Amino acid sequence: ERIIEIEKMELEEAEEVSLRPSGWDDYIGQEKIKRNLGVFIEAAKRRGEGLDHILFFGPPGLGKTTLAHIISHEMGANIKVTTAPMIEKAGDLAAILTNLSEGDILFIDEIHRLSASIEEILYPAMEDFRLDIIIGSGPAAQTVKIDLPRFTLIGATTRAGMISKPLRERFGMNFWMQFYNIEELSQIITLASIKLKKRCLLESAKEIARRSRGTPRVALRLLRRVRDFAEVANEEEIKIEQARYALHELGVNDHGFDDLDLRYLRILVQSKGRPVGLGTIAAAMSEDEGTIEDVVEPYLLAHGYLERTARGRVATRQTYELFSLPFEPNATL
Ligand code: ADP
Repeated sequence: ERIIEIEKMELEEAEEVSLRPSGWDDYIGQEKIKRNLGVFIEAAKRRGEGLDHILFFGPPGLGKTTLAHIISHEMGANIKVTTAPMIEKAGDLAAILTNLSEGDILFIDEIHRLSASIEEILYPAMEDFRLDIIIGSGPAAQTVKIDLPRFTLIGATTRAGMISKPLRERFGMNFWMQFYNIEELSQIITLASIKLKKRCLLESAKEIARRSRGTPRVALRLLRRVRDFAEVANEEEIKIEQARYALHELGVNDHGFDDLDLRYLRILVQSKGRPVGLGTIAAAMSEDEGTIEDVVEPYLLAHGYLERTARGRVATRQTYELFSLPFEPNATL
């Protein structure tokens, strides 16, 4: 069973929401983003204006949705949450937009998945807070302009490359989410364990953090499972032995890679320095290219296990060391 999934499972979602930080104090890490957002929010409040539109880039589970909630809280604004695949028709978007009130925040997840025709409607809405709807067709067609309240759009995307240039340019602020380090993840785990009423000792939190792929969602998911083990064993706190045992039982391995990572890296080292195309890797793994680009590659790239070249992906020295194999340099250089 795969611990890391792109889709949030419904059952887990409720619990995830209960562990969500409500303010800056328990939103750990992403210091630069926090600093900048803090300044922008303060400035907007002083001017008595709404906040500029904001776009967050980054792999799933790094805290984009949580940030949108914190921003709305700080602004004292209401937030409406939706995801691009739910906005199929022009009417869907029009309904959302016309139901907003002054100062509201609209959060659209997976914003790169909006269709071109929906994007067209979004542009004047973002720029001039105006909705242009065409009623009727042919020579009798009429454009009706509707004024919208000043709202803030917060978009989140896992695919920087797939968001259209005109859409991207309409956001006043862009932020890139970073993977979290072990200290930050340990802190997130410790805080969450207190909320879960099963305190995780620091050493145990670090043990879980090391296996979380730099991702809070993964860390919290592992914590909840380890907590279950501790509960069944009647432990008051999550001690290191308990954490190790649980993680072992869950089949989570030591270096923080999951099964997909390892399969991916194995394909690269097996090609012995010849770059491998994304399509080839996807076919060999029976996974879709999107999952590989969004979920697998960012973490491996950030940790130096992968290089992307014009001809394809190649393993680095570290990757060969991971498999105890002799290094094969890029064969095309
Ligand atoms: P994304 O929108 O990027 O997929 P979410 O905002 O849904 O990610 O975050 C996933 C989970 O991880 C949330 O339940 C949240 O509680 C937790 N989380 C994310 N970032 C942080 C953080 N910086 N500090 C504490 N918890 C976090």
